[in-house]
Amino acid sequence: MSALAVEVGAVNLGQGFPDTDGPTEVLDAAVDAIRSGVNQYPPGLGMPVLRAAIADHQSRFYGLDYDVDSEVLVTAGATEAIAGAMLGLLQPDDEVIVFEPMYDSYQACIALAGARAVPVTLRPPDYRPDVDRVRALIGPRTRAILVNSPHNPTGMLMDEHELAAIAGIAAEHDLVIISDEVYEHLVFDGLRHRSMAEFPGARERTLVISSGGKTFRTTGWKIGWVCGPPHLVAATRAAKQFLTYVNGAPFQPAIARGLGLPDEYFRGVADDLSARRDELVPALHSVGFDVYPTRSTYFVTVDAAPVAPGVDGKEFCARMARDAGVVAIPNVVFYSEASKDAGRSLVRFAFCKRPEVIAEAVERLQGWKP
Ligand code: PMP
Repeated sequence: MSALAVEVGAVNLGQGFPDTDGPTEVLDAAVDAIRSGVNQYPPGLGMPVLRAAIADHQSRFYGLDYDVDSEVLVTAGATEAIAGAMLGLLQPDDEVIVFEPMYDSYQACIALAGARAVPVTLRPPDYRPDVDRVRALIGPRTRAILVNSPHNPTGMLMDEHELAAIAGIAAEHDLVIISDEVYEHLVFDGLRHRSMAEFPGARERTLVISSGGKTFRTTGWKIGWVCGPPHLVAATRAAKQFLTYVNGAPFQPAIARGLGLPDEYFRGVADDLSARRDELVPALHSVGFDVYPTRSTYFVTVDAAPVAPGVDGKEFCARMARDAGVVAIPNVVFYSEASKDAGRSLVRFAFCKRPEVIAEAVERLQGWKP
């Protein structure tokens, strides 16, 4: 969709990347690192300065202690962390419970490991997880539960009861939890993200995955990480060794710098994004979409059916790009094959863009007759 946006000159509210740079301190730290010769292979686990900063961050925000040498691993973005976890932990024919809609790499990485994704469908308008359904789907081959909160593409944030319930189920059935928390700081409306590993029974079985991309508006740097008990981190590292081996030397001290920024920085990122959400959401309502609540991330999901009855989301997004000059993503791509109907008319808009870009998209949409 980003390629289409360029081709037709559309405003790109599709792919989730910010269109402004992150904090100067972080950018300068990368430049300094390059200039001072941090340009060769870093250590396999990641640079000590970054691993220490990650451990400090988990302790500061969640009260969780991780050993920097055996419980923290730097990866090429959260995407490699997900791939490494799946390849390192799963055996062929294992099953992984996933919540759909989902970040599209989950299914692909589970398939690469020869395992099977078992989806639990989150339903609008609130997309709350059905914990009883999770329990019902556990069988002899279930190895892991993959959780993503704050959630892409819906902006749903799991509450502490839901996280605790999932932790409890995993402990009861001795499952691994893979917890993708990349949007951990992009939470609005006075809510707060809790790490899955904070809940009883979870710390010793949870691989927490995150990334500097969203928090520091550096999605192109691809610096991510995992934190977890040594056996889960070692398994992920065994796969990472043969995926990228190591990654992004000069960006590692820069992300370390970012992780150490004062609390105001992290609050500011969330406040800024929630202001963008508050510009886009009323406009989407006024165009006639059913807009589902979003309380986190870069994204809002809408149902396009009231605007274009009977038109499938992919066709709708193609028309919107061509005729209105606005690009968004059809949510159908975030569902498993069997559940595609659940996402048929849904569309995801990204609001992590400059106010003038959002205003331009809004103007184009309001002048469009689908
Ligand atoms: N997980 C989720 C839920 C995401 O939305 C994304 C980015 N779209 C990623 C992981 C990937 O993060 P990274 O860019 O650090 O690989």
